[in-house]
Amino acid sequence: MDFPSRGRPVDDVIADLGAKRANDVRWEDGRVFGMIYDGGPTVHEVAERAASLYLHENALNTKAFPSLGAIQSEVVGWTAALLHGTPFASGFLTSGGTESILCAVLAARERGRAERGITAPEMVVGESAHAAFHKAAHLFGIEVHKTRVHADWTVDVDAMAECVNERTVLCVGSAPQYPQGVVDPIPAIAELAGTVGANCHVDACMGGFVLPFVEQLGRAVPPWDFRVEGVHSISADIHKLGYAPKGVSVILHRNKDLRRYQTFVFDGWLGGFYASPNLQGTRSGLPMATAWSVIQHLGMEGYCALTKQTLENADRMRAGIAEIDGVRVLGAGQYHLVAMSDDPASSGVPIDVFAVGDALLERGWFHDRQTPPDSLHSTVSNSNTGVIDDYLEALADSIEEVRGSRAEDRGTNYATLE
Ligand SMILES: *Cc1c(COP(=O)(O)O)cnc(C)c1O
Repeated sequence: MDFPSRGRPVDDVIADLGAKRANDVRWEDGRVFGMIYDGGPTVHEVAERAASLYLHENALNTKAFPSLGAIQSEVVGWTAALLHGTPFASGFLTSGGTESILCAVLAARERGRAERGITAPEMVVGESAHAAFHKAAHLFGIEVHKTRVHADWTVDVDAMAECVNERTVLCVGSAPQYPQGVVDPIPAIAELAGTVGANCHVDACMGGFVLPFVEQLGRAVPPWDFRVEGVHSISADIHKLGYAPKGVSVILHRNKDLRRYQTFVFDGWLGGFYASPNLQGTRSGLPMATAWSVIQHLGMEGYCALTKQTLENADRMRAGIAEIDGVRVLGAGQYHLVAMSDDPASSGVPIDVFAVGDALLERGWFHDRQTPPDSLHSTVSNSNTGVIDDYLEALADSIEEVRGSRAEDRGTNYATLE
């Protein structure tokens, strides 16, 4: 591939770019369960207009762009209030859930080193915790103890307790965890972390902009946020069910002293004193501005309406799956995540959910695959409003089509390595 030798007119370039999207999944039709979170036409409009205002701005230096400093502290402050932090709660915007998690893990390691003299840090996570925690451990030189989950898919705190010791810097719980969408017993995990002076991080990348609104709507939510004593930090993604475009998440710490452990400052460079709140250097102002604008546009009322719709969609999906012979929903998730596997209790010809997923894809419906156990994952949102009955029909047809056959491809690839 040669580097383009000559420039081309704007219209040509944009036409080519548009054409590249031909085989991408049709998220506008609501046929994707995850990755895209569609808050509706006015949410698109406010995000697009904010994006064009802040396309070029750089949050690396908020002296040059004080508006971005204000945008960050407002979005972080609103999120802290939503998650019942005290006025001391503080945090930063990051580029996504993974970066928020990396920051939380780094802060736990640094606190363990500074306050407890730990030089060979360890952390304890359930096997349901997001892969980003393992990435963090890999990057930051931390030994991970990965512990089993109960039959209901929540972490087994007794199993975690067996791994906690004087080198433990972090215990993790999720609200909810991604694979089956159940909320871990956060108070017990926080208490366990407290027994050795380790941090407790709550991964609410999925739930941070859902559970507070579910609670407002009057549905039961187990305790998980800063109201739980002993929770040190929380990650919450605005670019998921916060309905902002990709590239923005919040990392929150219970207070500024804890936040200090995630920041980096360097004063020995010819370029001058360098301070950095998260893992990025140059930081686009665009995702920060779109997050600010989407939150302002929706407000509590708008989020509650989107959440009500999301819960209706997910409840309808769960009920529909329960009525179809051969498949079942894993666990008793109550919110927006649904994992579907084959049903061992079914007396019919067995079905392979990956083959079902392939048949659904041929009909234009996209799920992520996950394992173990083999299952199809749905992150349900407002994007899927109005299509759940069509989906259930396509699901029933797909199951009949593939009953007794097996998909050759067993991969659960989730990422681009090329
Ligand atoms: C999405 C997700 C993450 C990772 O977030 P990215 O934005 O994909 O980097 C972490 N934890 C949970 C529970 C998630 O759902």
